[in-house]
Amino acid sequence: MYPLLLVRYGELSLKGRNRKTFEDLLITNIRAALGDLPHGRITKTFGRIYVETKDNWEELAARLQQVFGIVSLSPVVRRGLDLEEIKEGASLVVQDTPGQTFKVETRRACKDFPLSSPELSRTLGGHLLKSFPHLKVDVHNPDFIVKVEVRSEGAFIYSKVIPCLGGLPAGSSGKGLLLLSGGIDSPVAGFLSMKRGVDVEGIHFHSYPFTSQQSKEKVVELARILASYNARGRFRLWIAYFTEIQKALHKGSYPSLSVTLMRRFMLRIAARLAQREGALALITGDSLGQVASQTMESIHTINAVTSLPVFRPLIGLDKQEIVEIAVRIGTYETSILPYEDCCTVFVPKNPATKPSLRQVERAEGELDVEGLIAEALEKTELVELYPGKAF
Ligand code: ATP
Ligand code: MG
Repeated sequence: MYPLLLVRYGELSLKGRNRKTFEDLLITNIRAALGDLPHGRITKTFGRIYVETKDNWEELAARLQQVFGIVSLSPVVRRGLDLEEIKEGASLVVQDTPGQTFKVETRRACKDFPLSSPELSRTLGGHLLKSFPHLKVDVHNPDFIVKVEVRSEGAFIYSKVIPCLGGLPAGSSGKGLLLLSGGIDSPVAGFLSMKRGVDVEGIHFHSYPFTSQQSKEKVVELARILASYNARGRFRLWIAYFTEIQKALHKGSYPSLSVTLMRRFMLRIAARLAQREGALALITGDSLGQVASQTMESIHTINAVTSLPVFRPLIGLDKQEIVEIAVRIGTYETSILPYEDCCTVFVPKNPATKPSLRQVERAEGELDVEGLIAEALEKTELVELYPGKAF
């Protein structure tokens, strides 16, 4: 019954000269997200996008709710600029809307229509009261609002407004490399970066045989879930070989520094890969103070190995807030599967919470840092993930 989906996008309209590029990218992403689902034309007019449906608006809307850049959606009835047609369209919308009280709001962009906005709202209100005896008007706190937009290309009538993800279109902000563990946090950090348009690739450090094949597959599954939100609907995951580094750190004489040293290796390797692959920032799931490696002192000492910007989108979030996002985006259930991560296998009893640069540099003096990095990079493999498809 709804032949059109109205797609609203907010922030894009602020982008001045870039606006057209952003809109075109959003439309490309919408097309890709709808993919195999039947739909009609996708058109852009005056700061909004319309998608013609094939009587399947709910199915289309569910896909579009995963597309960054869309603020909200409304299934819409479109009628000619004729009062009787608009009345009939408004009745259709009301039939499909639960609630006892309502009001009508009209916006008239096309001044050729003979009735003013308040006149049209009143006329339609009267018509709906007559047609639906159970309804009452409540202008202050109605159960639903019948919205009517009168434009030169027709009258658009709707009541539902479905909130969407917001953000910027996937792929509008350049490439970033996410350090993706099997935990709850890093997939959420990836999602929030994608929300701001970053084309996210992932790097996972795997320490087989100290960590199992299943722990790797869990990360692959997380990457697959993230793919549906990412640029071009795919996620490139680099699986880095971390076993020799773990062994070297385990043998070292500074157990309380091993997590700090491990993170410094991770950042160094990620930074090299980022440079090679044209990523301009690294992304981690750190949240300030969450664990010993995420105190200010630890972050400062770990961060010192790279001059690339390191995005930490979760820095100000509590665990519970992170969990809520993980549940919403569909990564939580996979993240809590019980397979061990390289950090859990080698965690020391008393990790340093205030590791200084001098201490870690002294410890690294005992290691073949360059050789270990080169070996890890050389044995790094790429997996490309697409939503719903096995790799
Ligand atoms: P959680 O805290 O939910 O266990 P996490 O992913 O945040 O999961 P932490 O131990 O807190 O795990 O690690 C902090 C950050 O370091 C992660 O968010 C991630 O960005 C990075 N990281 C940790 N382990 C790995 C790994 N094996 N591969 C890639 N990145 C990792
Ligand atoms: Mg964490």
